[in-house]
Amino acid sequence: MVTVFFQNAMVIDGSGAVPQAADVLVDGNRIAAIGAAGTLRATPDAAAFDCTGKTLMPGLIEPHAHLSFLDQASPHAFSAMPPEEHLLATLKHAKIYIDQGFTGCFSAAATKPRLDVVARNAINAGDHPGPRLLACSVQLTVTGGLGDLRELHLDPGDAMYTRPCDGPVEFRRAAREACRDGVDIIKLNPSGDTSTPAVPSGRTVMADDEMAAVAEVARQHGRRLAAHARSAESVKMCLRHGVEVIYHATYADEEALDLLEAAKDRIFVAPAISVTYTRLHEFPFPTTDAVKARISRDLEATVARMQALKKRGVRVLPGGDYGFQWNPHGRNARDLDYFVRLMGWTPMEAIVGATALGGAIMGMADELGQVRQGFLADLLLVDGNPLEDVTILQDRTKLLAIMKDGAFHKPPPAQLQRRRREAA
Ligand SMILES: [Zn+2]
Repeated sequence: MVTVFFQNAMVIDGSGAVPQAADVLVDGNRIAAIGAAGTLRATPDAAAFDCTGKTLMPGLIEPHAHLSFLDQASPHAFSAMPPEEHLLATLKHAKIYIDQGFTGCFSAAATKPRLDVVARNAINAGDHPGPRLLACSVQLTVTGGLGDLRELHLDPGDAMYTRPCDGPVEFRRAAREACRDGVDIIKLNPSGDTSTPAVPSGRTVMADDEMAAVAEVARQHGRRLAAHARSAESVKMCLRHGVEVIYHATYADEEALDLLEAAKDRIFVAPAISVTYTRLHEFPFPTTDAVKARISRDLEATVARMQALKKRGVRVLPGGDYGFQWNPHGRNARDLDYFVRLMGWTPMEAIVGATALGGAIMGMADELGQVRQGFLADLLLVDGNPLEDVTILQDRTKLLAIMKDGAFHKPPPAQLQRRRREAA
């Protein structure tokens, strides 16, 4: 068993507690001990690091990952890429996530049925570097819903990155196939979206019995449900059917907010604000004033809803929807800054959202996402204090060390290593 000793680090433990100068001992893949700085002793075989002036914190967790998105301008790129290249791209993105300090990813849809599943299995087998990954299905949508790229005059072939279904029978079959493929999560698109003018964000397009059919299959197979739900009615539908992870909730009305609050111990909300923010402010192509107005309305509505949900004690998580040309993979830590700057979270609240709440959304609240005795050793050693400037988490050169499951993905720089005699 490898033992690692982080000596005299400023520990942000992920719980929201005031940071403490502490020694942290990792044994195997778990945090074996934490004590006030200077109180713990390294075992003789431990690799010891002097972390004076550095911050030790839990690895970041992305609650809405799309590892098979291609940083593209159009969703047609998903179908244009053959599965072989697409798997390589997915694995490349997995490495980008852990390189930037994301040691966990809850996937919010793959773009071909088995991309997430195969990537997850390769990472778990140790064949490829990447975060802990919960694998998702392709998005189950409806005819004309978000992600239905078919056009009547064209042969649809396999040119899809979603699975359009109509009626409970088709939804049930798609959900069963996803379970057979080995997903952890089934993703549903019950509402429209900012990006699809014909089916705007406020519109609900899925029928109650369609979602019920998927929920029944998920229950039977022990899988989890996540949904793209911007409209008020789609949020309520999710709550009726046990959807645990609700993305966006842009136009949740008072009744939806009440229902979310009543379910706050079993649900998570992630607004995925970056894709909206960057589309408004960093989109590389000319956009009409009407489109800008629509996106701007979505952004304002999202901010207001998230602030209301936070007040009500609902778990709201930063992150989401990276993998578009204007919102590429690798910038995910920007979301913590959006939470601070656009939504009024403190840096500590944003960090708790990306760590302890991240562990909870991964289904591992009692062993992941905190620097705590007995927890899994997914850790970042940061050069500086992210509570003073949360944007330093966006700078890979400030991530001095990245550990997942007790093993260094990126070891600390040699100058921090203490010689055996000094550490004892
Ligand atoms: Zn998404």
